[in-house]
Amino acid sequence: MKFDVAVIGGGLAGLSAAARLAAGGARVLVAEARPGLGGRASSFADPTTGEPVDNGQHLLLGCYHETFEFLGRVGAGGNVRLQASLEVAMVDEAGRETMLRCPSLPSPYQLLAGILRWRAVGLRDRLSALRMVRPIRQAQRVALTGNGVFPASDADTVEHWLTRWGQARRLREMLWEPLALAALNQPAREAAAPVFVRVLAQMLGPGRADASIAMPLRPLTEMYAEPARAFIESHGGEVRVSSPARVRIEGKRVVEIEIRGGRIEAESVIIAVPWFALAETIVGGVGAIAPVLAASRQAAASPIVTVNLWFDRDVLPGPFVGLPGRTFQWAFDKRQVFGDSAAHLSLVSSGAAGVVAESNERLAALACDELSAALPAARSARLLRSLVVRERRATFSLAPGQPRRPDARTLVDGLQLAGDWTETGLPATIEGAVVSGHRAAGLVLRCTNTAAHSCPQDEC
Ligand SMILES: Cc1cc2nc3c(=O)[nH]c(=O)nc-3n(C[C@H](O)[C@H](O)[C@H](O)COP(=O)(O)OP(=O)(O)OC[C@H]3O[C@@H](n4cnc5c(N)ncnc54)[C@H](O)[C@@H]3O)c2cc1C
Repeated sequence: MKFDVAVIGGGLAGLSAAARLAAGGARVLVAEARPGLGGRASSFADPTTGEPVDNGQHLLLGCYHETFEFLGRVGAGGNVRLQASLEVAMVDEAGRETMLRCPSLPSPYQLLAGILRWRAVGLRDRLSALRMVRPIRQAQRVALTGNGVFPASDADTVEHWLTRWGQARRLREMLWEPLALAALNQPAREAAAPVFVRVLAQMLGPGRADASIAMPLRPLTEMYAEPARAFIESHGGEVRVSSPARVRIEGKRVVEIEIRGGRIEAESVIIAVPWFALAETIVGGVGAIAPVLAASRQAAASPIVTVNLWFDRDVLPGPFVGLPGRTFQWAFDKRQVFGDSAAHLSLVSSGAAGVVAESNERLAALACDELSAALPAARSARLLRSLVVRERRATFSLAPGQPRRPDARTLVDGLQLAGDWTETGLPATIEGAVVSGHRAAGLVLRCTNTAAHSCPQDEC
């Protein structure tokens, strides 16, 4: 059977690419190695109860414009709830609970107004936030016009950069560093500054809800992966799971696409696998893709550990709370997903290299201890059970000195790359994956729609 495009990998990048191609009239095949779709943003059945559990809590931001476009395309826009404006509950290390509440004002005044009224930080320290306006505006201008000097360099860590722009220690500890850790999955002292500055520039973009947080209302697989499958299939495409693919490349040509032992024919290929799976997806004399393979082998990863806790009663006062300074920096209440009778919490440790090797018992005990110390309601609740999920290669490292990220377009005819790790300027996020998928699909569609003979191969 012949397809217009074979998409290898059924995570957010592959599914968003395939959905865009299917909407554009292409006949698409998606091949996913695992039995289920979704990759690093997916759900699985709890081995004890069978209920769906996410591989880790996922949040979206209002500035995830391409993600909202993808969700809308596949009819899943209603599966997330976006705050009208940013609101974050935080409990500091002394146990003091405060709410960062940003009024609905044009950017960046919403965040500044929120910070200026935020009791978690002393007034003098709050005022240091005003110094962030200049670099953020500059980053926005560079992104918009392509002109000017970006206000951060690869040699800077986030920590240095924040200090250089005069951010007071308490504001860094309570706001900027937890935000960087959540967005980059790496501590501010390790991650390079430019990607963080781009995230800030997008969050403080023109949309009033750009900085707001959106939470899934369903387990991840139901939230977007199954709707994407239905959309692709209803547009004449095919989605095959348990179907690892191999792409044989010789010189500048794809010579064979093999899926579960069988050959398939396709005009174009989008490889949307993570960096750590690229070397086993591409076989043969690797030719023009060799430098990308070499870079993918050198890229380091950063883990996330999630501890799911089921209690005999409600513990959290709202949908989530930030716990800066702890091993588990955020606690999420799954009632939005499973209904009011669920007292299921998900505690997240980002940048978890220091604890990922600990035993399940130790991690669950640490999560409970931190929760009880922070929230009085947790002290009287009885823990019914726990489930630990480790994602050792949750995200690629953003530390200075990491290999250059590849473009969507490759030097191999008819082959594009997608995946959060390709060059989008964004960290490893849902939005980064979707932007990469849309970009790869756009390259294929542009070449297909151009009169076939006038489309120069090196444009594809
Ligand atoms: C625990 C955790 C929490 C996170 N939290 C957030 C968050 O709150 N907000 C946010 O924006 N981002 C978050 N992220 C990041 C986000 O999940 C990822 O950036 C995104 O899912 C990456 O999508 P992808 O399609 O690029 O890659 P993947 O999801 O890795 O998808 C690639 C797919 O390719 C498949 N594959 C590999 N090799 C082959 C092959 N040879 N043939 C066929 N298929 C193959 C894999 O099985 C996989 O399904 C989180 C990640 C983790 C792990």
